[in-house]
Amino acid sequence: MESAHLIACHECDRVFRRPPPLDGLHLRCSRCASKLSGAHHARPTLDFTCAMAVAALVTLVIAQCFPIIALNAQGMTSQATLFDAASSLWTGQMQIVAAVVFFTTTLFPSMELLALLYVLLPLRAASVPPGFRYVIKFLQWLRPWGMIEVFMLGVLVTTVKMVSLARVIPGAGLFAFGALTVLLALVSRFDPHRLWHACDDIETRDDATPPATKRTESPPEASTVAGSMKVVSAKQAGLLVCHTCGSVQPLHDGEAHPRCHRCHTPLHVRRPASVSRTAALLLAAALLYIPANLLPVMHSTSLGRSEDDTILSGVAYFWTSGDFGLAAVVFIASVVVPMLKLAILAFLVFAAHRRSTWRPHERTRLYRLVERIGRWSMLDVFVVALTVALMHFGSFAVITAGPGALAFGAVVILTMIASMQFDPRLIWDAVPDAAESARDDS
Ligand SMILES: [Zn+2]
Ligand SMILES: [Zn+2]
Repeated sequence: MESAHLIACHECDRVFRRPPPLDGLHLRCSRCASKLSGAHHARPTLDFTCAMAVAALVTLVIAQCFPIIALNAQGMTSQATLFDAASSLWTGQMQIVAAVVFFTTTLFPSMELLALLYVLLPLRAASVPPGFRYVIKFLQWLRPWGMIEVFMLGVLVTTVKMVSLARVIPGAGLFAFGALTVLLALVSRFDPHRLWHACDDIETRDDATPPATKRTESPPEASTVAGSMKVVSAKQAGLLVCHTCGSVQPLHDGEAHPRCHRCHTPLHVRRPASVSRTAALLLAAALLYIPANLLPVMHSTSLGRSEDDTILSGVAYFWTSGDFGLAAVVFIASVVVPMLKLAILAFLVFAAHRRSTWRPHERTRLYRLVERIGRWSMLDVFVVALTVALMHFGSFAVITAGPGALAFGAVVILTMIASMQFDPRLIWDAVPDAAESARDDS
C-alpha cells in the first residue's frame, strides 16, 4: 500500500502524483505522451462494463454456434462455423495452427469475459471474490491474445475472395462476429488497473486496522521527490513499479527478490535481460519469416489440377483479378506489417543496447506502433483457416493448409512476445536529465 498517492508511466518510468478521479478523460504522461494507466477513471463504469461483458459472452456463444458463411457452387453447398475452421485444420495435419486459431478466437476471448465477470459481479456488490489476485493477473495476461477483431477482418477478406468462385450466403455467425467486435471494443476500454483500486477500497473499508498503522512505510522522500521534481523516474527515486497492478513502492536495501505488496508479482527495476531476450526472439522470428514466405500456405486441388499458394502469390492473385483493395489489405497485413515489426524492434533493441539518446519520443512512438499493429498479421492465418473449412466440395475442389501457414503463425506470435519482452523504459534511461529539463522549460 506504500506510495498509494503515486503513479508511474509504464513507458518512460516518470513518477506522478495520482490525480483525483477522472470523468471519462484520459491522463497522458508529460514526458512521453503515453496514456497513463492506474489513474482513477469514473467511466466506463463497472456497471456498463459488466453489461457489455454479459452481452459479449452471449454474442460469442451465438457466433460460435452458427455458420459464418455458406458457399453455393454447381448445386453443392458448403458452410463453415468457426469450430469447423479449426477442426478442418486439425484433420489436415495442421494441429498447431488449428490450436492457435481456436485459442485466439474462442478460448481466450471467452475466458477473458468469464474472468472479467467473475471479478466484476462481486465487486459491484462490494465483496472481493476468492482468488481475486490470480484471476486479474490471468485476465491481464489473456488480453493481448484474444483476436476477434482480426478474425472479423479475415472473414471479410475470405468473403470477398469467395465471391468470384461461388455464391456466398452470409450466415448468422457473421453478424454475431460483427456485433462481438463492437462489444469487445467497448469492454476493452475498461482499464483492468481499476479492479485493483476497487478491491483496495473494499478491503480498506472492511479492514479493522486503522489506516495509520497499515501505511507505516509511507515514504516522505517519494512525495517530496514527486513534488519538487522536474523529471524524476521511479528508478532515480528508488521506487519500484508493478506492471501488473500499477502500484509504486520503495525499494528497500537488502531486499533481493522484491514482490509487489498488492498483487505479489516479482518486481524489477527494469525487465530482466530485456534486450537479449527481445533480440533472441526477433532472430527466431526473422529466420522463420523466410519459410513463411517461400513455403505454400495453401494447397488447392480442383478438377484434378493441383496448385500451391504462397502469401505473395495470394496477393498477386487478388491484384490480377482486379481486387486491388483486397490485395492491398492482405499485402499490408501479411507482408508490410511483419517486416515493419521486425525492422522497428531490431532498431529499438540496437538503440537500447547502445544506450542511444537519439529522439526518444519518436522511438517510444515506434514501440507503441509495434504493440498496436502486431496482432493484425494473424489475418492470413485466419483467411487460410476459413478457406480450408469452406472449400470442400467433394472431389470437385479441396483446399488444405500448407507448412507456410505454420511458419507464418509462428512469426506473428514470436514478434508479439518479442515486443512484450522489450522494456520501453530503456529508451529513456540513457536520456540525460539536463536535456529533458531544457525541453520542459522550452
Ligand atoms: Zn511516460
Ligand atoms: Zn502489483
